[in-house]
Amino acid sequence: MTDCPKCDHETLVKTEELGKIPLDVCPGCHGIFFDKGELEALLKQSQGEVPAGFGLISPKPDTIDCPRCKVKMSRGGLVNPMLLVDKCDSCGGIWLDPRELSLLKKLLGLSGGPEGVQVARPAPAAVGPEEKGFPVLKYAMVLAALLGLALVSYELYVYFSPAGSVEREFSAGMTAFGALLLAGGGIGAIKA
Ligand SMILES: [Zn+2]
Ligand SMILES: [Zn+2]
Repeated sequence: MTDCPKCDHETLVKTEELGKIPLDVCPGCHGIFFDKGELEALLKQSQGEVPAGFGLISPKPDTIDCPRCKVKMSRGGLVNPMLLVDKCDSCGGIWLDPRELSLLKKLLGLSGGPEGVQVARPAPAAVGPEEKGFPVLKYAMVLAALLGLALVSYELYVYFSPAGSVEREFSAGMTAFGALLLAGGGIGAIKA
C-alpha cells in the first residue's frame, strides 16, 4: 500500500499503461510516482536523448513525503528551473503531477508517447464478513417448523389417548397442516 503524497486517503495504483513501466499512479489527482530510473526509461521511449539521472536544480526542502520512504522530499527544478518537481533524496524517486510530465517532455523536446495515465480506484476491500441483516425469514421458517411439530405432536397425542380422556377429537386435517408447516418451515429454514 503506497499512499498518495498529495491526497488524503488515496492509495497509488500500479499500472503499466504508460510505456509498459510499472508506475504508481494516484486515482485522485492522477499524479505519478516514478521509482529511480523509471522516468528516464519512459522518456527514452519517446524519441530523443534523455539526460541520465535527473538532478534537481537548486533543491529546497519539500512539504510532501516520499510515498516509498516516508521522508520529506526535495522540491527543485527538473531540467529547467521553472519546472518544479518533487524528488526523494533517499530513493531517487520522482513525483510528477499530471501536467508536469507533459511540461517535462516539452522542455526536453520530446514528442510522441503517452502524456499521462488515468487509473480507477481499486474496489474497496471487503471489511470482514459481509454484514447481513437480521435473518427474519430464517427465524420465521424455524418458528413455522416448531409450530408444525407442536401441532403434529398434539394431534398424535390426542389420537393415541384412550377415548374420553381427551376432550378434543383427533383431526386428520390439523395433523396434515402441522406436517406441512413442519416440512415447509424446515426446508425454508435451511435454505433461507
Ligand atoms: Zn493524489
Ligand atoms: Zn523515497
